[in-house]
Amino acid sequence: MSSGFRLIFLGTGGGRFVTITQKRRTAGIRIIGEDLNLHLDPGPGALVHSIEEGLNPQNVRALLVSHCHPDHYTDAEVFIEAMTRGMTRKQGLLAAPKGVLHGSEVCEASISRYHRQMVEHEIQTRPGVQFEVGRIKVLTTEARHTDPDAVGFRFETEQGDFAYTSDTEYFGDIAKYYQGLRLLALCVMRPSGKPWKGHMSTDDAIKILSETRPERAVMTHLGMRMLLQGPKKEAQLIMEKTGVPTVAAVDGMIVRIAETVTVQARKGRGQEDFENFL
Ligand SMILES: [Zn+2]
Ligand SMILES: [Zn+2]
Repeated sequence: MSSGFRLIFLGTGGGRFVTITQKRRTAGIRIIGEDLNLHLDPGPGALVHSIEEGLNPQNVRALLVSHCHPDHYTDAEVFIEAMTRGMTRKQGLLAAPKGVLHGSEVCEASISRYHRQMVEHEIQTRPGVQFEVGRIKVLTTEARHTDPDAVGFRFETEQGDFAYTSDTEYFGDIAKYYQGLRLLALCVMRPSGKPWKGHMSTDDAIKILSETRPERAVMTHLGMRMLLQGPKKEAQLIMEKTGVPTVAAVDGMIVRIAETVTVQARKGRGQEDFENFL
């Protein structure tokens, strides 16, 4: 039995206005376990905040990018440089959908060919595609978003499964991807009563969580309207409606998945929002 996994929420902001103001960081999530050092959605600031938190980017062996929006991909190339010892060693894994790797009708390729060719394993993700990173299996899930190639990820481990929805709206069978989870991290951009096509509001998160009932949920990728409304209140609303223990992420927060799922805040903006959950 391994000692479990740590999900470090290096960034918890999402969307254009939170990104350009950095009201919350947009650095994505680092996932660390025995034989695993993976970075998920390296948006602006991912490299800098990784170093500042003492998580050496050169130890990363897998980079997962969910779609071609800047708050998810901008630091991907510098992470590839870190992962490949400054482009001197072909190693590591890159998993991303077609739009990120090759471009699509809505975006140019997000990662240059120069960087892609130094990665040892490249996986083009689409819903249903499975791949291995170290000893864990990753299943690509479906997201319905303004980037038509956007995907989410489900991580299957000895300690049980956890998943990340990425940016998506609610759709009829979204719950089928997220059954039986220990932890579900949802990109909840908008508060209750403020729906936005292609994105998730608190009301959509409530629907997903009541249909999936994970052991614990984390709201992350918070947009400006969500921050103004107060993510902590929105997390409480989710808990009241679903009974699923839910926390609104703050920058630097760590979730440990072992025998239990525990949440621990580190210094960072939004700390005051977090204290009631300790
Ligand atoms: Zn986003
Ligand atoms: Zn997006």
